[in-house]
Amino acid sequence: MQIIVLGAGINGVFAAYYLAAKGHSVRVIDRCSEVGQETTFANGGLLTPSLSAPWNAPSVGLKLFKYLGKNDAPLRLRLSVLPQLTGWGIQFLKNSRESRFVESALRNTALALHSLSCLKALREKLPLDFKHHCGGVIKISRHSTASKELDKLQGAMTDLGVEQRVLSVEELLSIEPALLPIRGALKSAVFYPRDEFGDACQCAREVFAVAQRMGVEFIFDTEITNLKQDKNDIRFLEGAKGAYEADAYVIANGSYSQAIFEKLKFPSPVRPVKGYSISTPMGSWSAPPRLPVIDADHLVVVTPLGSVIRAAGTAEFAGFDNTIDFNRIAHLKHVVAGLYPKLPVHRNGGDFSAWAGLRCVSNDGVALIGQVGGGNVFTITGQGHNGWTMAAGSAQHLAEIITGGNPTLDPNHYAPNRFFRH
Ligand SMILES: Cc1cc2nc3c(=O)[nH]c(=O)nc-3n(C[C@H](O)[C@H](O)[C@H](O)COP(=O)(O)OP(=O)(O)OC[C@H]3O[C@@H](n4cnc5c(N)ncnc54)[C@H](O)[C@@H]3O)c2cc1C
Repeated sequence: MQIIVLGAGINGVFAAYYLAAKGHSVRVIDRCSEVGQETTFANGGLLTPSLSAPWNAPSVGLKLFKYLGKNDAPLRLRLSVLPQLTGWGIQFLKNSRESRFVESALRNTALALHSLSCLKALREKLPLDFKHHCGGVIKISRHSTASKELDKLQGAMTDLGVEQRVLSVEELLSIEPALLPIRGALKSAVFYPRDEFGDACQCAREVFAVAQRMGVEFIFDTEITNLKQDKNDIRFLEGAKGAYEADAYVIANGSYSQAIFEKLKFPSPVRPVKGYSISTPMGSWSAPPRLPVIDADHLVVVTPLGSVIRAAGTAEFAGFDNTIDFNRIAHLKHVVAGLYPKLPVHRNGGDFSAWAGLRCVSNDGVALIGQVGGGNVFTITGQGHNGWTMAAGSAQHLAEIITGGNPTLDPNHYAPNRFFRH
């Protein structure tokens, strides 16, 4: 079958690889001039089944209200975007009731764990490096933070294979000695030994190289602005340079899938949620961190990626505005300085790059993988804050669905048609 994949982020590139591996003839279209240039570009780097709980936890409504108008809040809602969020927002809040939240979290956990096993199989088979490390992720707090919702969920996540260990400060420092300078401030630590980390953009580049060798055609610098629909099918996608036709289409263009769903006359179940990161060279630091640390007091993750330290966080409902607010960047720098006072960047003050990206969040907090409507349109999107973690498994799952294989996961759990009536 001839298949067009729209979007060359981590989802589109993995989809191209798995579809080509099934014998399909695949073209990937992207408006950027290389792969991984939007949300995949500088994310937090975590491959974390342990962070599978969706953001619409039962307390989300209260938190949004509490943070309203606060510029340094980890969760921020711009009043100007409220009109774009009304229908979606009501569903987002409705889906935060406890039973729904737990069900969604467990679906995400199953997908994330499947994804890590797909990634392991690929690492064993393909020339992939992407600064990948197993070894775990640490969560620390200067207060006691465990939320009731996550306490209840943890047992069920453990049954699925997400291990967690509460650490004493001594145990924490033996796993991550770089936290020694702040030992006096630390109150609690949890270790997720099976979590992993790596550079998503580098992974997209490496899988792109493999996919190209398998015959996948990549069409860059090409924005899709329109499509021609015929009942449930797409007939062709259209951009400034012409039309692109195939037997089937995979919509993998991140938050901008919203526009495609709306062109197909479906009310879109996804919205963009903005986040930021800074990347700074570790320079001459003699004892850099070995593992990512989630600072639970600020909801920021700080990850060592090769020779840089990356800090990522904040969730802002700001529509499609991905400009950089330097107050947010200053906040990330402040969090890094609080964790690692010895990092050289605090001395030279300036050597860092700042980035903002748009997570694509579905209103029930679960990914959309599979057929859209009843025709030749498929999607892989809406994985929210854990999209890098879920990408390989989502793409493998989609390739099974399109090819008529035997998916490991239950397709109903991620079916886009839970939102789209046809
Ligand atoms: C601050 C931040 C930190 C994060 N940290 C983590 C983390 O630690 N772990 C984790 O698992 N996930 C994390 N994520 C989420 C993760 O980065 C995303 O879920 C993932 O990168 C999404 O990949 P994608 O391929 O769907 O989208 P994208 O990478 O955005 O790719 C979509 C592609 O579609 C193209 N495109 C869009 N519209 C069009 C069009 N009309 N025509 C042509 N091309 C188009 C774009 O150019 C882009 O290349 C983070 C996200 C953010 C913002």
